[in-house]
Amino acid sequence: PNQAVADVGLIGLAVMGQNLVLNMADHGFKVAVFNRTVSKVQEFLETVAKDRETIFGARTIQEFCALIKKPRKVILLVRAGPAVDDFIEKLQPHLDPGDVIVDGGNSYYQDSTRRMKHCAEHGLLFVGCGVSGGEEGARYGPSLMPGGTEAAWPLLRPVLQAIAARADGEPCCDWVGSGGAGHFVKMVHNGIEYGDMQLISEVYDVMRRGLGLSVEECGDIFAAWNETELCSYLIEITANILKYKDDETGKPLVSLILDKAEQKGTGRWTVESSLEHSVPVTLIAEAVFSRMLSSRKAERVRASKVLQGPPAQPPLNEQDRQNMIEKLRLALYASKIVSYAQGYMLMKEAAAAEDWNLNYGGIALMWRGGCIIRSRFLGKIREAYQDEPNLENLLLYRFFRDALLAAQQSWRDAVVFAVSRGITCPAISTALAFYDGYRAETLPASLLQAQRDYFGAHTYERIDKPENQYFHTNWTGTG
Ligand code: NAP
Repeated sequence: PNQAVADVGLIGLAVMGQNLVLNMADHGFKVAVFNRTVSKVQEFLETVAKDRETIFGARTIQEFCALIKKPRKVILLVRAGPAVDDFIEKLQPHLDPGDVIVDGGNSYYQDSTRRMKHCAEHGLLFVGCGVSGGEEGARYGPSLMPGGTEAAWPLLRPVLQAIAARADGEPCCDWVGSGGAGHFVKMVHNGIEYGDMQLISEVYDVMRRGLGLSVEECGDIFAAWNETELCSYLIEITANILKYKDDETGKPLVSLILDKAEQKGTGRWTVESSLEHSVPVTLIAEAVFSRMLSSRKAERVRASKVLQGPPAQPPLNEQDRQNMIEKLRLALYASKIVSYAQGYMLMKEAAAAEDWNLNYGGIALMWRGGCIIRSRFLGKIREAYQDEPNLENLLLYRFFRDALLAAQQSWRDAVVFAVSRGITCPAISTALAFYDGYRAETLPASLLQAQRDYFGAHTYERIDKPENQYFHTNWTGTG
C-alpha cells in the first residue's frame, strides 16, 4: 500500500501543471501528481521530472489521494469548465473532511462560488486561486490570488507563498476573500492587462502613422520608457518585440503579423461584470471592442477604400516630434492611472455586492510581481491603500492626483494630435473623457432626465428641492 508521503498533490500535467510541480519541488515540497490521460504521468516522471525523488506519480485517483498527507491539499490545473467539476466529483469519495481542493485554472468566479458551496456540503475546503505569469511564472514564481473557504488559508499559505513571485521582498500571494474572490481578482487583472496592451498599441500607432517613426525607433523609445515610471513587463516586451527581425525577410516581425486580435474571454467577462455592477469601466471595454473591430479585417479593408480621413498634414519638425513623444508617454501614464482606478472601482462594487472584504493594497502587491501586468506603478497603488485604506477612488490619492495634473496638458495634446490626423486611440481618449466626466460637478444628465420625462413620464428630481422628491411636467401643455 502507498504511504502518505506528499505534502501536496497536483492534477493536470499540461504546461502550467508541470511547471508548478517543479516549482513546488524546488521549494522542498513533496508532490504527488496525476493526470486524466494517465500515460502522461509516467511520461512526466521519465522526462521533465527525471531523477526527482520528491515527485510521486499515481495511476488512479485513489492512489493519488492515498499519497498525500492529511489534511490533504490538492491543486487542480486543468482546463477551466467541466473538467474542474469532473475532478471534484472524482476526488470527493477519496478525500476526508478538512481536505482542501484548489482550482488554479482560469475559472469563472461564479463557478468558484458555486464549487465552494458544493465542496462545503462534503466538509471539503475549496479555494479558487487565480494564477498569472504563464509558463515562466508557474516555473519560477507566479502571482497567486487565492480565495474561497478561509479555513484553508493557514494550510495553503506555506506552500503558495513559498512558490509565488516576490516583489520588494514580499510574496505576490495573499488571501483575497471568500467565494469566487480570487478568480474575480484574477479576472480584473486580465481585464487590466487588455487595457495596458491596448494603450501601448495605440501609442505605437500614433508614433508610426502620426510621427512617421520607424519600428526600430519606436522600440528604442519603449526601451527608454522602461526606465521611467512606466517601467513594466509589458513595456519591456514591447521594446523587445519591436526590435525583433524576421529571419526570412529581415523586416521587423511585428510589421508582418496580421492585424486581427484574438481573445479568450476574460476581458469580456470583466466588461460584462462592470455592466452587471453598473461601474463605468470604459477603458477595458474599449480595449475589448478594439480587438473586435480589429478582427473585422476584410470589412475594414473595404471601408478604407470608401471612407476618407482628414487631409494629410505636414510632418512635425524635429523639436515638435520630440515633444510629442514625451506627450505620448504622459498620455499613456495618465490613461493607465485611469484604467487601474476603474478596475479598482469594479472590485470595490463587486466586493460590496458579494460581501468580500478585499484587501486593495494586498491585491496591488499580488500584481506587483510574477504576472503579466507587473510594474513599478503597482507599488504606488499599494502605497496609496496602505496610506488611506478607505480611499474612495485611486484618482483622488494625492500621488495620482498630482501625476494626472502634471500629465494633463500633454494628454490632451496627444489626443488632439491623434484625432486631428484621423488616428484612432479609443482607450487613451476614453480615459481622458472619464477623467473629465469624473471630475465634473455637473453633467448634462439634467437634459437627459428631461427627455426621459418628456417622452416617458419617467419623472426627475430637482436641485432646489429635497432628494427623493419626484416631479413630472406636462412638457407640451396638452393632454
Ligand atoms: P490546458 O490546455 O488548459 O488544460 C490541459 C489539462 O487539462 C490537461 O491536464 C488535460 O488532461 C486536462 N483536461 C482537459 N479537459 C479535461 C476534461 N474534460 N477532464 C479532465 N481533464 C481535462 O492546460 P494549461 O495551459 O496548462 O492550463 C491549465 C489551467 O491554467 C487552465 O485553466 C488555464 O486557463 C490556466 N492558466 C493557463 C496559463 C497559461 O499561460 N497557459 C496561465 C494562467 C492560467 P489530458 O492530458 O488528459 O488532456
